[in-house]
Amino acid sequence: MTTTPDITLRSGLTTACELHLPGDPGYDVARLAWNLAVDQRPAAVALPRTVDQVRDVVRAAATAGLRVAPQSTGHGAAALGEQDLDDVVLVRLSALTGVEVDPARPAARVLGGTLWQEVVEAAAPHGLTALHGSAPDVAVAGYVLGGGLSFYGRTHGLAANSVRAADVVLADGTLVRASATEHPDLFWALRGGGGNLGVVVALEIDLLPYAEVYAGMLLWDRERAPEVVPAWVEWSRTAPESATTSLRVMSFPPLPELPPFLSGRDLVIVDGAVLEADERAAEVLAPLRALAPEMDTFARVPASALTEVHMDPPAPSPAVGDHSVLGPLDADGVAALLAQVGPGTRSGLMFAELRHLGGAFARPVPGGGVLSSIAGDYALLCVAMAPTPEAVVAGRAAAFSVVRAMAPWAQRSLVPTFAETRVDASRFYDDEDWLRVCRVRDELDPRRVLVANHRL
Ligand SMILES: Cc1cc2nc3c(=O)[nH]c(=O)nc-3n(C[C@H](O)[C@H](O)[C@H](O)COP(=O)(O)OP(=O)(O)OC[C@H]3O[C@@H](n4cnc5c(N)ncnc54)[C@H](O)[C@@H]3O)c2cc1C
Repeated sequence: MTTTPDITLRSGLTTACELHLPGDPGYDVARLAWNLAVDQRPAAVALPRTVDQVRDVVRAAATAGLRVAPQSTGHGAAALGEQDLDDVVLVRLSALTGVEVDPARPAARVLGGTLWQEVVEAAAPHGLTALHGSAPDVAVAGYVLGGGLSFYGRTHGLAANSVRAADVVLADGTLVRASATEHPDLFWALRGGGGNLGVVVALEIDLLPYAEVYAGMLLWDRERAPEVVPAWVEWSRTAPESATTSLRVMSFPPLPELPPFLSGRDLVIVDGAVLEADERAAEVLAPLRALAPEMDTFARVPASALTEVHMDPPAPSPAVGDHSVLGPLDADGVAALLAQVGPGTRSGLMFAELRHLGGAFARPVPGGGVLSSIAGDYALLCVAMAPTPEAVVAGRAAAFSVVRAMAPWAQRSLVPTFAETRVDASRFYDDEDWLRVCRVRDELDPRRVLVANHRL
């Protein structure tokens, strides 16, 4: 292992790939993750603008005895930041972006670091959309490689299943195309195996035929949580697969930049999408609307507006979190959640979320990848804002406390995109698939050059 990566890495490059090393003026900006609570300090940060530059930096890193961590935005950087990155070149794909839509298939080809919003905007003029998540500025790559829970998901399944092909730079710098007929083992492993197999420089994904969608949110003061939480849980047991929603108990600090309905308030919010005609969608939501929400924005909107419904932070933010997958919630389970985050409590969290699973999320897909379905009823995600080191410690404890309280209702499985801390990655997969995905990794990357946030 070299101790002078600055010399060996720079001199090994044959292209003009932008490179920032510790001590360079640009290093501290280049190493910033979207999640500002993550203090990732790699041996170098590379910002390739072309596929050739990606290949060049991967080859140069391997020659210099360094490892490589692909990263698009750093939304999922928390588990990477917990690792020792002293000998790791962070390969930021944020300058390698672009979308081409093929409305006839319908599908899109997206470059390695492309954000969902770009895809949604490129698809919209064709009356199409995609299996994106709640936030516009999450990248396609990290999301689909980790499963991807969309508000279209109970109808259309995990976003990983929408991948038709990928161009991948392997650990030795070779560029391959993976699809059902080309490098099928790699194609299988990628769809759920995260950044452990290679640097993905392009993806081909199926698009969905929705120009408009019935979507929005219902909002109550947190005082109503003892009614609303059990009612949503009860509703979710029989809700049709056309409805994919989330329930969050949220606390907002008093901030002038927040709208008055959020600023300084504790709330319960149900949001998501119902893939039905207006009348049927209203019927589906009727039991929730009967709880007289203070605000109800559910309506038919352009599909491109679905990335705004969840009100995710519009800019990089510091946050810590914890996660588990829950099975059915009985009255004791609801009571346990309310005891943590209900009226009168001070959990210290910004939110505790139950993302409704089931439906197509739970159905394994023939020809799918290592992660083609998620068993379970709800993905629990607890997040605290963490602008200071003290807040990081307190926030982690707060999130862990809720996850621990819900442990009696938890399953062994975890969703890679929701796992905020370093976890045992075998929990993402069935035993057989876990062994197979590790074998594929060993064949493709025997020296373990690639470093993912969730390592196999
Ligand atoms: C505000 C917010 C909202 C979110 N909403 C949702 C949601 O609705 N549904 C959901 O499922 N998840 C959601 N997430 C989680 C998000 O999907 C994951 O954090 C995901 O990993 C982010 O992908 P990224 O590429 O943007 O992040 P990154 O941190 O850049 O990537 C995460 C990991 O993916 C791999 N990776 C990324 N790009 C590449 C590449 N080009 N080649 C190879 N490997 C790569 C790497 O291993 C990397 O460590 C949300 C996260 C946040 C912060």
